[in-house]
Amino acid sequence: MPHITEVRINRRAAERIGAGRPWVYRSDLISAGDAVAGQVVRVLDGRNNRYGCAHYSSKSEIVLRMLPFETAQTDAGFFRRLITRARDFRERVVADTDSYRVIFAEADFLPGLIVDRYGPHLVVQTLSQGMDAAKAAIVEALREVLSPDSITERNDAATREKEGLERISSTLHGTTPDYLEAKINGLRFMVNLAEGQKTGLFLDQRENWQAAAAYAKGEALDCFSYTGGFSLHLARGCESVTAVDSSKPALAQLAYNAKANNLENIQTRHGKAFDMLKQYVLSRREFDTIVVDPPAFAKTSRQREDALRAYKDVNLKALKLLKRDGILISCSCSQHVSEADLLEVIADAALDCGRRLTVVERRTQARDHPILLTAPETHYLKCIVLRAF
Ligand code: SAH
Repeated sequence: MPHITEVRINRRAAERIGAGRPWVYRSDLISAGDAVAGQVVRVLDGRNNRYGCAHYSSKSEIVLRMLPFETAQTDAGFFRRLITRARDFRERVVADTDSYRVIFAEADFLPGLIVDRYGPHLVVQTLSQGMDAAKAAIVEALREVLSPDSITERNDAATREKEGLERISSTLHGTTPDYLEAKINGLRFMVNLAEGQKTGLFLDQRENWQAAAAYAKGEALDCFSYTGGFSLHLARGCESVTAVDSSKPALAQLAYNAKANNLENIQTRHGKAFDMLKQYVLSRREFDTIVVDPPAFAKTSRQREDALRAYKDVNLKALKLLKRDGILISCSCSQHVSEADLLEVIADAALDCGRRLTVVERRTQARDHPILLTAPETHYLKCIVLRAF
């Protein structure tokens, strides 16, 4: 193997790698040798035991992101191998959609790399120095393995700042349309690739939208609707759907989507979901089906306690609006709030308003967003279906 820079880690980090953790924190680094930003390095402990190779970051608290096998560089050949394996897995588990996540970072053994596909167009995020430095090789491999019409980078994510990387969006290959139409579960979704939240859609909820449709009945409320993932799916089986979101562009797209799918029973309400729920409680409005899918309340572990209070509050308000035998679909995408935490706050909320609940389904992110077993952080999306007695 060609020359490779060596870095040294302490015993705690070595034990963590041994336990399958994919990261080393800066405080556990003994020496970075002459490693430079984004480089592939070999990881050793103080006694020269080898722990494989990693991408080195000169800036982030996560100083090393482990690579899945020994390699001197992350070149197009490296990416071709891993992208092909990720693609083959999606071909087996992804159905009824032309849009899904092709690469989910650590869970596809490509730490810091996200690739979403919208039909023939790809959207890429390189969220670590190592992946950012390898952008040209990633584009080359994606073109070879997936033959996309275009590749866009949506590198405007805030997490890039932790790596000292600029926030940018640009086209890396071909011509990217500003808007395109995704076809998911037989529904048409307009997607704004340039400015939509995440890479355009919350693809991680795709299977949950479908699952929710199975419970759809009566009057439905979709809180934090974004462009209507749940609303459109529910509308096919409900009398009416009310979609609430604080983003005007998201609701405008939702209205467009409703029309494109000939769904005339969806109305949008612009505003803060907490205020809207409160108003509904005061006016004694009730619903048969309620979805609560707020943005991540806990972005860091320090925000966890506040986040739990917010989850309890929003679920409590929703429960007060739920009819007898109504269905509550309650989601959390905070990686610092576990499924057990979410179940506990929903139980607290139910006790507070004297409702008895049964858990009907416990769901998570769609299978194109796999969970790395030894990194519980990658199990970030929780979606609980409950029935109110
Ligand atoms: N349910 C959506 C994804 C929701 S993401 C889907 O499956 O596609 C969270 C949404 O909450 C975003 O659309 C964001 O605009 C909205 N949002 C954030 N804060 C809000 C608030 N206080 N009130 C209402 N909506 C809010």
